[in-house]
Amino acid sequence: MIDDVVKEYTERIIEYGAKSEKVRIALSRAIKAFENNRRNALGMFPQSIDTAKEVRKIKEYSIEHMDELIKKACESIERNHGHCYYAKTKEEALQIFKDLVGSGKLIVKSKSLTSEEIHLREFLEELGNEVYETDLGEFIVQLMGTRPTHILAPAINVPREDVAKVLSKFMKEKGIIEEDLDEQDIPKMVETVRKFLRDKYFKADIGINGANALAADTGTMFIIENEGNARLSIGAPPVQIAIVGVEKIVPTIEDAFKVTEVTWRYANYTVPAYVNLISGPSKTGDIEKVITYGAHGPKELHVILLDNGRTKMHESGYNEALYCLRCGTCLYECPIYAVTAGFFGQQYMGGIGAIWDAFTTVGLEKASPIAYTCVRCGKCKVMCPLNIDIPDMIAKLRNDARKQGYVPKVVRDFAKDIEEFVKEQK
Ligand code: SF4
Repeated sequence: MIDDVVKEYTERIIEYGAKSEKVRIALSRAIKAFENNRRNALGMFPQSIDTAKEVRKIKEYSIEHMDELIKKACESIERNHGHCYYAKTKEEALQIFKDLVGSGKLIVKSKSLTSEEIHLREFLEELGNEVYETDLGEFIVQLMGTRPTHILAPAINVPREDVAKVLSKFMKEKGIIEEDLDEQDIPKMVETVRKFLRDKYFKADIGINGANALAADTGTMFIIENEGNARLSIGAPPVQIAIVGVEKIVPTIEDAFKVTEVTWRYANYTVPAYVNLISGPSKTGDIEKVITYGAHGPKELHVILLDNGRTKMHESGYNEALYCLRCGTCLYECPIYAVTAGFFGQQYMGGIGAIWDAFTTVGLEKASPIAYTCVRCGKCKVMCPLNIDIPDMIAKLRNDARKQGYVPKVVRDFAKDIEEFVKEQK
């Protein structure tokens, strides 16, 4: 029932978001830093504004030719001695993981919203594997047993004081530290996580990653990062498995460069510490030009291309949502997000997240209250590098929800009041 869904969502958004002083403090610190950094990044590299217009065209083309690009990307990956899989649904993707991974493995994982979408870590843990998120924010979220609240900064809503507490408890148990961490000493917190994860990369059986873009012509995945955790979890274990949403595929490697450049600029970086390009498993031809796989890096590369509602999103007229680069700008600019963090959403966040949640995670009924939380102020569209019309899609989503009877009671009552008022005026 929609009213139960709304009740549960409203309680959560108020309890963990709007009412929480801690969330507001953590968010205001992060939003201020983000705004300064983005202004700086675009000020130094103003050409990114024009590149963003090109990227919009690349995305328009790619989404219209998704089937063709999936086929081409798979052919390229196989040509590079990787293995390519297409998963129509979440269940199909998890089955592929189950077949490849099995149980009893040590797994290091870098940040991937697509893997969050299918609850991959939890699934692999249930199979009996030891899985570590290696992105610092994701690692904190994993230890806290919560979920990411921002697409770039998963623990954005967690103040340093809470981070110190959760890390102290875990690291003392693991024998990494003896004393509690000082809650103002962020470098020490980072150093402690580094110390703990360091040997996991080299002991791991499998590394898992997502991608920011995938070039169909070469089969090359682009992965932007700053911490160096992605390149370690991709490079050190003998087996690498990537999960990539089909909307990330673009025709050429030049297109993928443009997509990633615009993504990091708008994600507030003049330049990220690392951009990883991976086209196949590790190889060498240094002995008599005999190509041998698994030189230093992974011997095997598996790439799972995930649909899970993306084609339906396209067919249902929500194309623009598929252009999203996950740069995070719209979240930092959103007045609702500023007081509620990722609790304004189910698994994806903010106005753009309402569309993604409707098609890929929780369905239209549970996405309906998110669509009604959005005030459609339009700031997200203005600030989005691709000018994605989120307010327009929110209106369409509300309309689709209305047709299914998923309008929250508070909105139904309000509509009735307006109707009566109009009658009285006649
Ligand atoms: S909708 Fe636009 S601003 Fe928001 S994350 Fe996607 S690309 Fe960035």
